[in-house]
Amino acid sequence: MLVPTDGSAPGLPTAAGSIFKIIRDQGPLFPADIVRRTGLAKSTVSVYIDRLAAAGLIREEPRPGGKRRMLKVAESAGYVMGVDLGQTHLNVGLCDLEGDVLDSIGADLDLLHETPEGVLARVVGAARALSSRNALALAALSGIGFCLPGPVDYARGLPVSPPVMPGWDRFPLASALHREFTCPVFIDNDVNVMALAERDKGAASQEQDFLFIKAGTGIGAGLVVDGRIYRGAKGAAGDIGHISAGLDDVLCHCGNRGCLEALAGGRALALRAGEAARSGASRFLAARLAEGLAGTPELLALGAAAGDEECLRIIIAAGKALGDTIAKLVNFFNPSLIVVGGGLANLGERYLASIRESIYRRSTPLATADLVIKRSALGPATGVIGSAILVLDEIFSHTNVGRLMRPPSA
Ligand SMILES: [Zn+2]
Repeated sequence: MLVPTDGSAPGLPTAAGSIFKIIRDQGPLFPADIVRRTGLAKSTVSVYIDRLAAAGLIREEPRPGGKRRMLKVAESAGYVMGVDLGQTHLNVGLCDLEGDVLDSIGADLDLLHETPEGVLARVVGAARALSSRNALALAALSGIGFCLPGPVDYARGLPVSPPVMPGWDRFPLASALHREFTCPVFIDNDVNVMALAERDKGAASQEQDFLFIKAGTGIGAGLVVDGRIYRGAKGAAGDIGHISAGLDDVLCHCGNRGCLEALAGGRALALRAGEAARSGASRFLAARLAEGLAGTPELLALGAAAGDEECLRIIIAAGKALGDTIAKLVNFFNPSLIVVGGGLANLGERYLASIRESIYRRSTPLATADLVIKRSALGPATGVIGSAILVLDEIFSHTNVGRLMRPPSA
């Protein structure tokens, strides 16, 4: 992470920061709501509301006929860029200060064959194009959030030995972008930022302790504790794709055998679908193969929906393998909610049901007593939105909001 600092030591959460966070998380709000929710004196809240407004961070929401003022984030007071780099896509989005996407540029790519310099040049080009076509000066950019599909050293803003990104190990991504745009830059794992998007805009709205599971080409977990991402000592928390899932005869691309990802990841399912098409075990997939289509998870979902038993069997087995691993996390972490997202979450209800059954079967009764398991309701912009929220969380943290304002004159 690269944040310009004024050299002051990080202090206790400031009143301004607390007030701003409540408005950001729960607004629009009346000042009286803020007094109640912060426990601060009415006069203190009033002083800081005026200062937050003077700093351009909050504004009054016009209410027809209403005399009392409601306060919300001044969403147009600045903007942030969210960058979502996936194994087959690059999406760059221009977002307001509430994390809503104003405009975006997306392109297909094959990350296995992209150099970091090449991707960086495309990100810079897209960010400049978005600023220019929306008539916004790059100087007004408050920050850039960037997510990628691999382990990230969050403090240093660089990927570390990402298995599907050859040539990217320790590439200084945050400092390269910071040199280009001079604003704060934050790099994180895609699963973590998707969890942030779920927290603020998705299925986990208002939840403070939950688990986000990304089931796609890769499999990972985002742990949200007290409303914040838990990254662990080195940023590797939640990297569950390479936990052993039991069957040691399956070779994983990481070099180990029996990894969850090798059993239940998108690539594994595409392989199973191809085999079922070629062997004729699935009549649906064999017919698609005859039409020239390759086996994909999407075809498995279509086959299952059309009642093809082999497609259904593959999907249920994948759900079971994932559910068995999630059950271990439930016993360990005891979340109140699990949100399942990523491309495989679209495999259908039987997939979700299989995940649920395995979790309930393998977890302790106390851990599952009030456990809710939901599918993500967010679409393909999740990575961009989450990356924007990552920036907003950092630049509008308690201490940073305090620093954005001058000390009170009185
Ligand atoms: Zn592995």
